[in-house]
Amino acid sequence: MAASVNFAVGSLVWIEDPDVSWIDGQVLAITGDELKVQCTSDKTVVVKASSVYPKDPEFPSCGVDDMTKLAYLNEPGVLQNLKVRYDINEIYTYTGNILIAVNPFRRLPHLYDGHMMEQYKGAAIGELSPHPFAVADAAYRQMINDQISQSILVSGESGAGKTESTKSLMRYLAFMGGRSGNEGQSVEQKVLESNPVLEAFGNAKTVRNNNSSRFGKFVELQFDDRGRISGAAIRTYLLERSRVCQVSSPERNYHCFYMLCAAPPEDIKKFKVGSARSFRYLNQSECIELDGLDDPKEYLVTRKAMDVVGISAEEQDAIFRVVAAVLHLGNIVFAKGSEPDSSEPKDDDARKHLKIAAELFMCDEKGLEDSLCKRVIVTRDDVIMKVLDPVAATINRDALAKIVYSRLFDWLVNKINSSIGQDPDSKSLIGVLDIYGFESFKTNSFEQFCINLTNEKLQQHFNQHVFKMEQEEYTKEQIDWSYIEFIDNQDVLDLIEKKPGGILALLDEACMFPKSTNETFATKLYQTFKDHKRFSKPKLARNDFTVCHYAGDVTYQTEFFLDKNKDYVVAEHQALLSASKCSFVSSLFPPLPEESSKSSKFSSIGARFKQQLQSLLETLNATEPHYIRCVKPNNALKPAIFENANVLQQLRCGGVMEAIRISCAGYPTRKHFNEFIARFGILATNVSNLRYSLLLLFYDSSDDDGH
Ligand code: ATP
Ligand code: MG
Repeated sequence: MAASVNFAVGSLVWIEDPDVSWIDGQVLAITGDELKVQCTSDKTVVVKASSVYPKDPEFPSCGVDDMTKLAYLNEPGVLQNLKVRYDINEIYTYTGNILIAVNPFRRLPHLYDGHMMEQYKGAAIGELSPHPFAVADAAYRQMINDQISQSILVSGESGAGKTESTKSLMRYLAFMGGRSGNEGQSVEQKVLESNPVLEAFGNAKTVRNNNSSRFGKFVELQFDDRGRISGAAIRTYLLERSRVCQVSSPERNYHCFYMLCAAPPEDIKKFKVGSARSFRYLNQSECIELDGLDDPKEYLVTRKAMDVVGISAEEQDAIFRVVAAVLHLGNIVFAKGSEPDSSEPKDDDARKHLKIAAELFMCDEKGLEDSLCKRVIVTRDDVIMKVLDPVAATINRDALAKIVYSRLFDWLVNKINSSIGQDPDSKSLIGVLDIYGFESFKTNSFEQFCINLTNEKLQQHFNQHVFKMEQEEYTKEQIDWSYIEFIDNQDVLDLIEKKPGGILALLDEACMFPKSTNETFATKLYQTFKDHKRFSKPKLARNDFTVCHYAGDVTYQTEFFLDKNKDYVVAEHQALLSASKCSFVSSLFPPLPEESSKSSKFSSIGARFKQQLQSLLETLNATEPHYIRCVKPNNALKPAIFENANVLQQLRCGGVMEAIRISCAGYPTRKHFNEFIARFGILATNVSNLRYSLLLLFYDSSDDDGH
């Protein structure tokens, strides 16, 4: 694209810069294919013409609200546009049909009030400033007019603003589809109040975001034939379980634990909790309190939201009893027992917590102790009681805490769904997806692998859609588009999820074979994919593998892959809690069907996740999609800092650059005839002359290829 532009002395250009990604300047001299450029930073450089982009001399000082209005749709132009808009708190910008949202990290209440919603009601897209309300409105109107289900896909990295955007969308859709005068709690109120409940139990402070969602979420709003919300279904994906037992500074565990410890005194007494600092699952991290987060208030807010979504007072009590029990479990520390390799609660304090945990779970105290310190092993001809050493007992205790918590979370989601209710007659849906963006950390494990698989899938969906829309536009204008190529990531998807033979299938095989280890699994991967161009083995690594994702290379450590892929409940835990005197606790552990309790067939988390994704994609494919790409302008989570390189990287990963590339491969700039005349009219003495010169221009450019 850059190479095809002819520069002249005096042309304004963008050149690459190691500090700010792109810097602007003016061409001083041209020698062959080299340009001498005076940069605005005052330095003078000589660069190849092919690496330089033209800069629009008439770029408006407030930017443009749609990238397709840029004179030059190139990477530096896009970046400059986002930056100047961000500086004046214009955080939303369109790129054709995609809404880019740059996190302001400051409250901008006027942007989201009732007055704003009124304004966007029925306004054509582009008539008002870009906004999630405009996207929601377009989706709503398309659904009503064309009777086609819609979806809004919100993506971006952690802390980019997905959940906040999703909440704006849901608020707007509830506003449009609300039933006023409904007795009791309306469907839309329940839908909106499901957010604080799920955030209390599924969000936590992380390094990247003080309110990070540790699960993916797809909310499907169902509408009746009059456009009113008649039901809703919430699907969640992969809650991060490890956080329940493991947090390190400066992160926190799930919000609900701290809220409970900050509850009013009568609740503290009822649930037998104390200071958050006294619980190991919380005090492993130094971060307990969080600036701007009022835990005592949040407890009450969560309780109120639970009322609205239809969780009864008894159920709420049981829920918080279970949350408290998990905290006490974490304080049962083990020491060596009297028998060799055995363990027992370390001291009186550990015994005290064991007793309280049993009271809260309403289960037998001795039974709880045994289920933590012993394991029954059934062999072909015998039943053996095996004692666990303190290390194994600790792992076992954490496994119990994790399974209880994840069952509790699933219970909440199911309860909310049944309380909101589904409308079986609804023909039109609007789905809103708030799901984790691409992740590439220093160490990447099974979670990142699943998250990145999700992103590959959504990227394919996105590419196909953007490409299709572009095609339609060209067909409408009768322009040949056959030369625009389409980059497909099917090869990465095959590598990961092909059955048989993909990485997930090999992982399942390894999990079913008792002698497998993470090392044998890694070796199997190396052998199978040694010639795959999307797979590599990092030099020196023994158990790591690298996948070349669409958004970049990610190296995964296989260390915990096998364990993390196995979904099972320890039989002793199942037996203990299904016998709880509390019907809520026992309902979290319904009896296993006869067959599955006998067979040792393992249940694969990866396979289940893949299936969930498949079904999500099927739902999405039956809808008209809308995209919101959230961008995090800095990692300090502070307002008014816009880091170019950081933003660019996210635009690339989110497919925005790819959408722009597709656009640039064809006719990237779309100006109305009047605008065109205003800009280029000077070239012709009158409009009919201009029409004539345009015709000539097209005639001249109908080259050898016949374009
Ligand atoms: P994660 O993947 O970790 O869940 P996320 O993309 O959902 O991240 P959010 O929780 O939506 O990120 O946003 C992070 C924080 O950024 C919010 O808690 C809020 O402080 C701020 N923020 C995001 N969007 C906005 C907005 N539109 N206005 C004001 N603040 C915002
Ligand atoms: Mg979130």
